Amino acid sequence: MSGPTVLVVEDETKLRNLIRAFLEREGLTVLSTGSGSEAITIASSAEPDVVVLDLGLPDIPGEEVGQELRVSTNVRLLMLTAKAGESDRIRGFELGADDYLTKPFSPREMVLRVQALLRRGVAPGDPLGPASFGEGALLIDEERHEVRESGRLVALSPTEWGILCALARVPGRVYSRYELVNLVRGYEWEGYERVVDSHVKNLRHKLRDSPTGSTIIETVLGVGYRLCLRRD
Ligand code: CA
Repeated sequence: MSGPTVLVVEDETKLRNLIRAFLEREGLTVLSTGSGSEAITIASSAEPDVVVLDLGLPDIPGEEVGQELRVSTNVRLLMLTAKAGESDRIRGFELGADDYLTKPFSPREMVLRVQALLRRGVAPGDPLGPASFGEGALLIDEERHEVRESGRLVALSPTEWGILCALARVPGRVYSRYELVNLVRGYEWEGYERVVDSHVKNLRHKLRDSPTGSTIIETVLGVGYRLCLRRD
């Protein structure tokens, strides 16, 4: 097999086939199963690049499958969940999901998320080379420690810088405050949620990000933040 491989773990046959068809149309090699235990076996032999994992599986809970995959492989996980509560979402990230989608979702959106995960070649912590977003609206050069908005150099505090770089790793992906604080500081502290909010507020101000005009960082209610711009 050549090219990226995606393993789809979903017990609803119709949905599984739909996901499969959309991914195959993008030229990806797709393996699929409706069983959690089979997914673990397939993942260890086929070493997929991305696993699209439904949390509600008949044999093993998707959470356990995810944990198992995390321990034994360095696959990127896109979790599918019917649960939409904040605690479920944060739990998903704590379990090591790289991204998640709440059912029902659009197959197009699912394809975009999988492609974003496949593009994610850099390990967390590695510097992002010069990267352009939103047709040049935002330029981030981690090695030079420079950010430009519409060509204008923007001075950021270390925390603002860290948050922006974290969000820019996978544009469009929602990062919880818990995750951001861990990515930026490596630990959480009491009241960190409001602290993250205030840093994001400052960051938006400096980037001239306006909620009515062109949005750079979007608040996803009850979840966290994401970078709205696409990587060029
Ligand atoms: Ca299911």
